[in-house]
Amino acid sequence: MIDIIFCIFQTTTPLFIDGKFIESQTNEWIDIHDPATNEVVSRVPCATDSEMNSAVAAADRAFQSWKETSILTRQQVMFKLQDLIRTNSPEIAKIITMEQGKTLLDAEGDVFRGLQVVEHACSITSLQLGESLPSVAKDMDTYTYRIPLGVTAGITPFNFPAMIPLWMFPMALVCGNTSVIKPSERDPGAVMLMMKLAQDAGIPDGAVNVIHGAKRAVNFILDNPVIKAVSFVGSDQAGEYIYERGSANGKRVQSNMGAKNHGVILPDANKEATLNALCGAAFGAAGQRCMALSTAVFVGETKNWIPELVERAKKLKVSAGAEPEADLGPLITPEAKDRVCKLVQSGVNEGAGLILDGRDISVKGYENGNFVGPTILTDVKPDMECYTEEIFGPVLVTLNVDTLDEAISLINKNPYGNGTAVFTNSGAAARKFQNEVDVGQIGINVPIPVPLPMFAFTGSRGSFRGDTNFYGKSGIAFYTQTKTITSLWREEDATDKVAPTAMPT
Ligand code: NAD
Repeated sequence: MIDIIFCIFQTTTPLFIDGKFIESQTNEWIDIHDPATNEVVSRVPCATDSEMNSAVAAADRAFQSWKETSILTRQQVMFKLQDLIRTNSPEIAKIITMEQGKTLLDAEGDVFRGLQVVEHACSITSLQLGESLPSVAKDMDTYTYRIPLGVTAGITPFNFPAMIPLWMFPMALVCGNTSVIKPSERDPGAVMLMMKLAQDAGIPDGAVNVIHGAKRAVNFILDNPVIKAVSFVGSDQAGEYIYERGSANGKRVQSNMGAKNHGVILPDANKEATLNALCGAAFGAAGQRCMALSTAVFVGETKNWIPELVERAKKLKVSAGAEPEADLGPLITPEAKDRVCKLVQSGVNEGAGLILDGRDISVKGYENGNFVGPTILTDVKPDMECYTEEIFGPVLVTLNVDTLDEAISLINKNPYGNGTAVFTNSGAAARKFQNEVDVGQIGINVPIPVPLPMFAFTGSRGSFRGDTNFYGKSGIAFYTQTKTITSLWREEDATDKVAPTAMPT
């Protein structure tokens, strides 16, 4: 059992540098609120330059020995880490619910989907294999090694405080790198608990470190010459900036950003299953998932299913995430709630129908929380702000089209390419959809098609910058560089008698 008191009930969130939990000496602090009550539950420091430099120096020192640690030892550490995360998942989920607001069940899912990446990392002895080709010339062989990069960094968003850091530091470490994580300043608690678990799993001091802060900490990471690669997940504004500045400084950068995921409903779909899938994927986690199905495209007569969708959405229980009956919790901040409400109003002002309005919801016992109930906008047009902007709240915008071709064209004109889904019983329609839609992750009767970690998270177009995705084989490629060795071993009496000056062929 981890020492949960250490992190949760302290009034400040510590840094984690060189294997020690450290109270920051900064005088810049950010309050962390419980989104269900808006009460302050902790505060997070904006680490000083000297603290951030210590974290990178510790990671650099640790790299010198960690890169030489046998791959079997690194694998054993991952086995232990996965066991500890699994055992402590309920504790991690509790702190996620307190700081982020999502329901406890959903928070356990957050941990579990990250845990699967750690489980995948346990296959490193197969994943990190190089290639070899004997006899590329007489007595000459060529082989490759996938070697670590050095110190890597991760910058993470608020919406998956366990899963997304787990996309980063375990993959980086198991490949032989070391890591500096800057979690979201809104909910860093889950990462802090996982640092304790990492330590207990045998990850050496300095191999993984946590710094806190906002833009200054991000700039520090982007400008630090020791850091070789940066993994980012978050909004477009931050992601574009991080990709540009990190790349300009010669770093490898992978940047997963915003989304507008469309679900296409064809008339031959299973109505019951489709409406349930839409409800769960649009309103679950209060719509604060980058793979939330936030846009429903009803094809032909399926628009007549909308009243039934409304009835189902009305049945969802909105409450604090810690309440057992809650289906969806609050939004992360009052500002997030305000933004969502304004985008809903913009839809109304631009002519959309508002057939379910969750903006004025009051949750008994949690009157100060940032709650918005399930909201549905109908007859939305592609030029409306509620369509062009990522809303990131429990709001489903619905559009009507006549054909599958129109639905595909609509999706392909949208700048984002994170996820999409089609609901149908026609294999031919599904196949046409998967072939013609230009989106990185496609569900066929699967509303949130986040791939398991043996595959990669392959968001595309406006949802991604970089060329190597998170986890899967791509994750290994991101956190390693290839060294190619060509060797010549020849008996002495067969060696060259003259100096060869021409290009070898
Ligand atoms: P955010 O961009 O506000 O914050 C993410 C991280 O970037 C935080 O650590 C934050 O401190 C830092 N940051 C914020 N603004 C910055 C700036 N101007 N310059 C430099 N750094 C900055 O994102 P968020 O609100 O925490 O997360 C929600 C967003 O993340 C949504 O847009 C969602 O779609 C996206 N997201 C995408 C994926 C994906 O895989 N595509 C997954 C989860 C979330």
